[in-house]
Amino acid sequence: MKQAVFLRLLCAGLALCLLTACAVRIEAPVPTGPESMPVEPEPAPVEPEPAPAEPDPAPAEPDPAPAEPEPAPAEPEPAPVEPEPAPAEPDPAPAEPDPAPAEPEPAPAEPDPAPAEPEPAPVEGRTFCVAIDPGHQRKGNSDPEPIGPGASQTKAKVASGTTGRFSGLKEYELTLTVSLLLRDELEARGYTVVMTRTDHDVDLSNAQRAQIAADAGADVLIRIHANGSEDPAVEGALTICMTKNNPYCPQLYAESRRLSDAVLDGLTAATGAKKRSVWETDTMSGINWASVPVTIVEMGFMTNEKEDLLMATADYQQKLACGMADGIDAYFAALN
Ligand SMILES: [Zn+2]
Repeated sequence: MKQAVFLRLLCAGLALCLLTACAVRIEAPVPTGPESMPVEPEPAPVEPEPAPAEPDPAPAEPDPAPAEPEPAPAEPEPAPVEPEPAPAEPDPAPAEPDPAPAEPEPAPAEPDPAPAEPEPAPVEGRTFCVAIDPGHQRKGNSDPEPIGPGASQTKAKVASGTTGRFSGLKEYELTLTVSLLLRDELEARGYTVVMTRTDHDVDLSNAQRAQIAADAGADVLIRIHANGSEDPAVEGALTICMTKNNPYCPQLYAESRRLSDAVLDGLTAATGAKKRSVWETDTMSGINWASVPVTIVEMGFMTNEKEDLLMATADYQQKLACGMADGIDAYFAALN
């Protein structure tokens, strides 16, 4: 009996030993081989870095100025082929309930020609200052003033100007309207602008107007006028400067002549108006008193039916302003 018990214990002991051995063997880690062997050396990053991205080509040049507006002035404004100035801006109109739903939308009929032209600032390096003198004022002043520094000859301080025979527009109204458009156009192109007047109710002589330009340190003085003639058939634009023998400011002749040519060219190209000529004369006080290059722009004849009525339209006024600004750009672009 004791033997049997002993044997059973022995068997159990052996079994336990075997199981333990098995377990140990199972749990033994799978040999992975020597550490060094399988490790393939990382391929050296010998591959040269791909060439750095090519530098971006210079950003696309801004589109050149859009094609010159059609010269034919008689043609109605063509459909606005130029890109909408601000397509991103949602029309604010529909948000507001239309108080007068019966009225047709006036907006889309008139394309705004002004902001369409992406005007590159023509002036690099510095800002030029343009003085604009809108010709005349509501009430002329017939007091005499010398026609130039030291002159014994006198002229009225400021004439009252002409009147549109067909439009009824006063010259002083037309000149201010176009001058303000020219101011906006020039400022949009990067110029500084000084106005001799922004109101009709002023009393400024021609000499005083020239002085305003001088005091402001203007680079040029543009005097805006419209013409009149006994002959209603006479039409077209012209500009005026002094002669090279001007007794008051002959040193301004060359640049004033260049300015007069440039502005006349720009104006007639933009409007299709008949190009008359640059008139050189020493009879204009506002030129004789100038101390910077100066031109008088006679934009057209208010005694010619076609031109008078055209000059009374916002469309044509904008063309006049843009054309003069083109001429001013050209003048400064060629400045040495
Ligand atoms: Zn005038």
